Amino acid sequence: MREHTPERDPEFSKASPEALLRELRAILAPDSLITDEELLRPYECDGLSAYRRLPLAVALPEDEAQVVAILAACHRAGVPIVPRGAGTGLSGGAAGIEGALTISFTRMNRILEIDHGNLTVSVQPGVVNADLKAAVAAEGLFYAPDPASYESCTIGGNLATNAGGLCCVKYGVTRDAVLDLEIVTAAGKIVRLGGKNVKDVAGYGLMPLIVGSQGTLALITEATLRLRAAPAPRTTLLAFFPTVDAAGDAVAAMTAGGLVPVTLELMDQFTVRAVDDVHHLGLDRDAAAMLLVESDLPGPAGLAEMEAAEAACQAAGASMVLRAADPVEADWLRQGRRLAYRALEAIGAARMEDIGVPRSRIPEMLRAIGDVAAAHNVTIGTFGHAGDGNLHPTFVVGPGEPEAVALERITAAKAALYEAVLALGGTVTAEHGIGASRQAWLLRQRGEDAVAMMRAIKRALDPDNLLNPGRVLG
Ligand SMILES: Cc1cc2nc3c(=O)[nH]c(=O)nc-3n(C[C@H](O)[C@H](O)[C@H](O)COP(=O)(O)OP(=O)(O)OC[C@H]3O[C@@H](n4cnc5c(N)ncnc54)[C@H](O)[C@@H]3O)c2cc1C
Repeated sequence: MREHTPERDPEFSKASPEALLRELRAILAPDSLITDEELLRPYECDGLSAYRRLPLAVALPEDEAQVVAILAACHRAGVPIVPRGAGTGLSGGAAGIEGALTISFTRMNRILEIDHGNLTVSVQPGVVNADLKAAVAAEGLFYAPDPASYESCTIGGNLATNAGGLCCVKYGVTRDAVLDLEIVTAAGKIVRLGGKNVKDVAGYGLMPLIVGSQGTLALITEATLRLRAAPAPRTTLLAFFPTVDAAGDAVAAMTAGGLVPVTLELMDQFTVRAVDDVHHLGLDRDAAAMLLVESDLPGPAGLAEMEAAEAACQAAGASMVLRAADPVEADWLRQGRRLAYRALEAIGAARMEDIGVPRSRIPEMLRAIGDVAAAHNVTIGTFGHAGDGNLHPTFVVGPGEPEAVALERITAAKAALYEAVLALGGTVTAEHGIGASRQAWLLRQRGEDAVAMMRAIKRALDPDNLLNPGRVLG
């Protein structure tokens, strides 16, 4: 296989782009192909602005027949493809590639079927997560995966990143919610990988392989997802701690005690203050850390779960434990946590990391983050899905700091952070993906043999390296 470094490789421009664009114009409606430089700008990068390149063009297909035709045309022209949902990803996975065609799925946004008998929903990839949740909620049903970006991110992007979110601790990640995928291969073939069967072990598990592959193995054009009966309204608890260690201990104690709350989220003091500055929630700004714990068990079971959580927080040394007064207050608190990254961005340039460690090691990881910040003289606001062992230490560059100097320190601090993660048996990315931004660490974490297997799979499914080349495997 030719190893492309697409951002730099002039080979990608070898086919006449004009010939491809002519073909694409014949496939797509007139307003479904963007070539104007100004209109291409929003597609330069995803949520991680450090990786940005202007694509050759952006196609906005409306059905899978158009996707197949686009892929066939790109295949003939040797032009690579970047699939894209809402562009909220934080690994550079949907950033443009020079000379490549970005395919945005935002116009393939129909909910195709809600099947009450099988508790499934079938969707096109461009459906926004929150729209799907609302549509099934209107029928008394619940779609669990809920990345904090759920008001804008798409199901296709969630599938391609195997997105997590705020209730994975109880309901699992996106992969756990998938029963069927329709994909279009690099060669332009439509293939179905599952069905509505809850149990199905016919052949190799191709579906879990595609989920989380960040558009490097196939394009997802349809999905059938699991639903649940709508759970009971949540009971919400907020606990403040005098030290970050104490908050980490409370998380570890809840896990060891077998508690499975629907939400178990952490924010450190820097993040609490940032969120409170923006949203004025009246949070305890003097606490070193805060936990948000929620139960969606009905009635007495929910109260018992919250009491057990409260006891674990008190035993770990919580300085204050509160219950949300009503569902509106609970919504505000949850929303405050969801907007933690935006609140840090309001302070200055922010770089969110996405580390994961075995849950018993959360206290050690929190200490290591503090050590890295002190040793490298960087500001880190930490928040995240502590119940999953998934934290988002976020480097923040204050307005007065020269960005180049800060970036140098952040680069060194990031390496130290990843070393600490790997020493604790963790992962350098728990839900955002390797994308374009963490490739150097894939080999360190997985080892040569595992990465060689990944390369063999990539070669088998995309022999010409046309699907999101240079992403994940580099
Ligand atoms: C404020 C904020 C909060 C966030 N919170 C969370 C969180 O809690 N949990 C979490 O997991 N992530 C979170 N994210 C990251 C991001 O929202 C998720 O990764 C999300 O799944 C991306 O969806 P998207 O539609 O924006 O995809 P994009 O960013 O457009 O694409 C993501 C990847 O999927 C590929 N892709 C997109 N569509 C397809 C398709 N149809 N077929 C094949 N490949 C495709 C792209 O090539 C890219 O590699 C957050 C981001 C922000 C900005």
